[in-house]
Amino acid sequence: MSATVNETLIRDVVAEVLGRLGGVSATAPVTTPAAASPAVNPACGCPAGKTTSSAKAASRGKCGVFADANEACVAAHEAYLQLSEAGVAGRRKVVELIKEICYAKAEEWGRLELAETRIGRLDHKIEKLQGQRGIPGVEFLNPYGLSGDHGITLEEYAPFGVIGAITPSTHSIPTMACNIISMVAAGNAAVFNAHPGAYKCAVTAARYFNQAIQHELGIENLACIVEPPTLESFNAIAKNELVKLLCVTGGPGVVQAAMASGKRAVCAGPGNPPVLVDGTSCLDNAAKCIVFGAAYDNNLLCIGEKEVFVLEPYFDKLMAALEKHGAFRLNNSQIETLAKAAFVFPPGQGAGCPHPVVNRDLIGKDPEVLAKVAGVTIPRGTQLLIGETTADHIFVEEEQMMPFLPVVRVKSVAEGVVASKKAEHGYKHSAMIHSHDVANMTAMGKALETTLFIKNGSCLAGLGSGGEGYSNFSIATTTGEGICNPRTFTRVRRCVMVDKLRIF
Ligand code: NAD
Repeated sequence: MSATVNETLIRDVVAEVLGRLGGVSATAPVTTPAAASPAVNPACGCPAGKTTSSAKAASRGKCGVFADANEACVAAHEAYLQLSEAGVAGRRKVVELIKEICYAKAEEWGRLELAETRIGRLDHKIEKLQGQRGIPGVEFLNPYGLSGDHGITLEEYAPFGVIGAITPSTHSIPTMACNIISMVAAGNAAVFNAHPGAYKCAVTAARYFNQAIQHELGIENLACIVEPPTLESFNAIAKNELVKLLCVTGGPGVVQAAMASGKRAVCAGPGNPPVLVDGTSCLDNAAKCIVFGAAYDNNLLCIGEKEVFVLEPYFDKLMAALEKHGAFRLNNSQIETLAKAAFVFPPGQGAGCPHPVVNRDLIGKDPEVLAKVAGVTIPRGTQLLIGETTADHIFVEEEQMMPFLPVVRVKSVAEGVVASKKAEHGYKHSAMIHSHDVANMTAMGKALETTLFIKNGSCLAGLGSGGEGYSNFSIATTTGEGICNPRTFTRVRRCVMVDKLRIF
C-alpha cells in the first residue's frame, strides 16, 4: 500500500472517530468552530455546514498547499471564517507579515523565481518583492458615512469570502503577495492557481506565508495554492460555490476563460503600452524614462513601454539620448533577423493570415541574448535594444515582452495619437507621453482611454515609483476596477439607522 493511501486512510479514520465523538457521522456536514451556531454564515452567505469534518481533517498540516483545488477552496473558506473571528487586528497582522516576509526573503525568492522561470532580471525581481511594502492594506477601507434629518447611514466595505486568483509567469510571487495583501486586508481568503511555468516558487512562498500566519494567528490555509496548477484546477476553482469572486492577472486567454466562467471576475489583462514624444519636453528626460521603464525586468511589465512614436524632427536626438542612457541601436537587417526569431506562426492558425505568437524562448531574456540572435555583439551593461521600424511592424503590433523597443517616426501629434491607439489595441491598459503641451496630453488621454496615463515619467511612475500613488501588480484593465487595492475585493453593504443617532 502506498504512503498516500495510508495517509488518506488515517485521515478518514480520524475524521470518522471525531465525527462519532461529536455525535454525527464523518460524512454528515458539521459546522466549523467559527460558525458554530448559525446555519448560514452571515458574513458570506455560505452554508456553515459546507465544511465536512473529513474535508477539514484533510486540510490539516497542508500549509496552504493542495493537490486538489476543491479541497483548497474548503480549507480557504474555513480560514476565511477564522479571519473574520480575528477581526481587523488579525487582517492588519497578516498584511504586516506578508510585507515583512517579502522584504526579508526578496533576494532568496527573487533568485528562486528567476531560476524557475528564466525570464527577467534578478535586481528587479528583488525590487518587486521589496516593493510589497507599498501595497495598501486595511487603512484603505474607510467606510462612507451619511448624516441627515433621517438619521445615519453607513456604507461599509465587506469581504466576499474566498477569492480564486490566477497569477502570471511574469511576476509570480510578487502578484501572489500583493493579491494576498489586498484580499486579506479586505477580510477574504484566497486560492491561487499559478502559471505552470512559475508555480514552484509560488508554492514555496505560499507555504512560508501560511506557516507564518498560522504561527502568529493560529489561522491555517488563508492563502491556498494548488500544486501543480492545471486548466482543470482553474475550472474547479472557477466552479466551486465557495469561491465568490475571481481575480485573474494575465493575457487574453485567461481573461476570456474567467469571463466565460459565469463568476464575477476582476480581470487584469494584457497591454501594449505606447509612448508618444512630441519634442516639447526634455528629450534627455524622455529617453532616461523610456530606457528605465522598457528595460525593467527585461520588459516583462504589462505597463512597460512597448513602442515609441516620436515627431520626425526629434527622432535623431531621441535615438542619441536613448543610446546615451544605455540603449543599443540595431540596424534594419538586425531588427528583421530578431523579428523572425521573436515571433512564431503556429500552424493551422489564421488560415492564410496567420496570427503571430511571441516566441516564449525569447520573452524576458537579457539584451545580450536578443543581440546574439540579431547577429550583433553589444557592450556589457546594455539595458535595452532599440531600432527604427514602421508603425505596422510586428514589434509595434505585438506585446513582445522582451528588451527590444521599436521607435517610429510620425509627422504630427495627431498621427502619433492614431498610431498609439492602434498599437494599444483597445486594451485600455497604459500609455505614456513626453510633452509640455497640455493640448497634446489631453488629446492622447482622451483618445486612448487607458487605465494608466503617465506624463513625463517612466511607466513605473504609474505604480508609485517616481510618481504619486500606490502600487499593485494586478491592474484591472479589462473589467475597469483599475489598480487593485483592498477595496477591489469588497462588497459594499449599507447600514441605515432611521431618524436616530445623529448627534445634532
Ligand atoms: P498567460 O496569459 O500565459 O498566463 C496568465 C495566467 O493565466 C497563468 O496562470 C496561466 O496558467 C493562466 N491561463 C492562461 N490561459 C488560461 C486559460 N485558457 N484558462 C485558465 N487559465 C489560463 O500570461 P503570462 O505570460 O503569464 O503573463 C503575461 C501576460 O499577462 C501579458 O499579456 C501581460 O500584459 C499580462 N499581465 C497583465 C497584468 C495586469 O495587471 N493587467 C499584470 C501582469 C501581466
